[in-house]
Amino acid sequence: MRTAFQRDRDRIIHCKAFRRLKHKTQVFIAPLGDHYVTRLTHTLEVSQVARSIARALNLNEDLAEAISLGHDLGHTPFGHVGEEVLNSLYREGFRHNEQSLRVVDVLEKDGHGLNLTWEVRDGIVNHAKTGADILDEKWGEVGTLEGQVCKLADIIAYINHDIGDAVRAGAILDDDLPSQAMVILGRSHSERINTLVSDVIDFSWVATGAYSGERPIIGMSPPVLEAANILRRFLFERVYTVARDEAEHAREVVRVLYRSLIEHGEKLPAEYCRREDSVERRVVDYIAGMTDNYALRMAEEISSWA
Ligand code: MG
Repeated sequence: MRTAFQRDRDRIIHCKAFRRLKHKTQVFIAPLGDHYVTRLTHTLEVSQVARSIARALNLNEDLAEAISLGHDLGHTPFGHVGEEVLNSLYREGFRHNEQSLRVVDVLEKDGHGLNLTWEVRDGIVNHAKTGADILDEKWGEVGTLEGQVCKLADIIAYINHDIGDAVRAGAILDDDLPSQAMVILGRSHSERINTLVSDVIDFSWVATGAYSGERPIIGMSPPVLEAANILRRFLFERVYTVARDEAEHAREVVRVLYRSLIEHGEKLPAEYCRREDSVERRVVDYIAGMTDNYALRMAEEISSWA
């Protein structure tokens, strides 16, 4: 018999928002290169890292998998660029983690939602970090150890796969990577993943229940944490901001979609016309669900609307 978390995982994998992840940008605009990481491949990497850690720590692997697979369902087209534009346009604000929860609670299955367990829902909505650094004082709470594992797995996955994409895009050279961090984490992608995953497992060993009475914490050892933060800061300075600057066209597409769809509410598909929602809310839900290509096509089509 399937457990509740296996059932949640299966419901996530079969939902429409999950299928659309394959055509959504992670950092570099996905339709421009076949080998860039997309939301879907990112999601799969997070799931693998989270499961490896959960298994080693004797935690619930199915829960870790379900949270990982659902964590980015609310991401907009064009990565964080799309998120920033929606956040600035929509009065109530927009955050992808809250939208992920909205997708599984409300939008999927024609407005019925997926009826997931609180553990999976909590892990999804609390996966996003609010602080500047990994595990800093503003890191934020997650209700389960598996959710905490997923939050770290998300970062472990992206600080590594985004290096590959940045090199592929010509934004950085391998030699540009901060050597202080590389010495500790490793030079190759697989070395770094191995260092980070092993470190989380070693540091969080209490979570296995090996020592009764001690409070389990999911974390990283100080030197590895420091190296991961150096690498992450480097990516922010050298890659994410640059990728964002190049995304002015994507930004304009989201602005055009928002303005035009508010004016032409009749163009919204029936599934986004929930009676209890404002026009703005419906438009945000619709745009957030779009893939990059769908958004580009629709923006072109809009020019023919009267
Ligand atoms: Mg993610």
